[in-house]
Amino acid sequence: MSETSREIHLKSRPVGMPSPENFELVVVPRPVPGDGEMLIQNHYMSVDPYMRGRMVDRKSYTPPFQLGEPLTGGCVGEVVVSNNGRFPTGTFVLGMDGWRDYYVSNGRGLNPIDPNLAPIQAFLGTLGMPGMTAYFGLLDIGKPQPGETVFVSAAAGAVGSVVGQIAKIKGCRVVGSAGSAAKVDYLVNELGFDAAFNYKESDHLTKTLASYCPNGIDVYFENVGGDHLQAALAVMNNNGRIPVCGMISQYNDTTPPPGPTNLSAIIGKRLLLKGFIVSDYMGQAMQFYSDMGPWVASGQIKWHETIVEGLENAPEAFVGLFQGENLGKMLVKI
Ligand code: NDP
Repeated sequence: MSETSREIHLKSRPVGMPSPENFELVVVPRPVPGDGEMLIQNHYMSVDPYMRGRMVDRKSYTPPFQLGEPLTGGCVGEVVVSNNGRFPTGTFVLGMDGWRDYYVSNGRGLNPIDPNLAPIQAFLGTLGMPGMTAYFGLLDIGKPQPGETVFVSAAAGAVGSVVGQIAKIKGCRVVGSAGSAAKVDYLVNELGFDAAFNYKESDHLTKTLASYCPNGIDVYFENVGGDHLQAALAVMNNNGRIPVCGMISQYNDTTPPPGPTNLSAIIGKRLLLKGFIVSDYMGQAMQFYSDMGPWVASGQIKWHETIVEGLENAPEAFVGLFQGENLGKMLVKI
């Protein structure tokens, strides 16, 4: 075991698209666990779009990252030294102290995970936060009914790919948008979407979307914002539902983006738009696992991971989220 631990600090607050210069790899002495504590060695960490918001010094639903301090985020690791009877050495755990090799915990906020159920990194993707986001956003807010059309943007990503597959299980016609031909192929030919298109090749997103959704859209699972929301509002059916999950096209904007010009469609079409944060649903996690477990076991839900090797490359992995470099969940193997 190394006597030192590497961690990634936020060196400066990004303006616009983040760059590797905003981050710094710092080597510190490996922390030592005290009474009741344990030392955890991280094996995988997650990079997520929401982390961009935490790099800005403003009040939000999660506090901002502090300059000169290690970043945090979802991670899975292994207890390598334990002074805590609940987490013996060798236990795999899901925690929130990513962006570093080692950390010490007293167990609060840590969840043991069973490596026999799935590869441990799946608990950062389909079996973890992104999977729960897809599940609760779609089912609790979208309320998809058999035969309805569900449209999801960023469809080949961690959340979007699960949204589409759950909507298929619920008997819907599923359409996705994604940023490359390879992603479109994956959605249709591997995940079973009914249709998908490359939004970067569309010169009129509303017309493109309408052509892929000839019966209109009943549920739009919003991951992107901007032109995607504008187009979806135009194609939505009466009484449609829009779970507003994310607006990744706007996270690096330096000036407020223009809003959709057709918001009045919400009135005439009696649309429901509802934002949500996955943590709203943490108390219902068992409901998620009781459905997702059998779906994964039966092969009805599949996933893909894009794994970047090395903690030192975590900043590039994070920036890659905004450049569409991931198919499925973006992870860093430490
Ligand atoms: P993804 O795995 O989907 O990765 C991000 C993807 O977004 C990229 O691969 C890229 O795919 C797409 N993208 C990036 N920039 C743009 C752009 N300018 N226009 C269109 N697409 C773009 O990430 P997640 O699944 O983790 O997150 C998806 C969304 O869900 C995000 O908006 C995120 O903030 C939100 N989210 C919200 C949560 C909540 O609690 N409300 C929880 C988790 C996620 P492509 O190649 O298709 O462009």
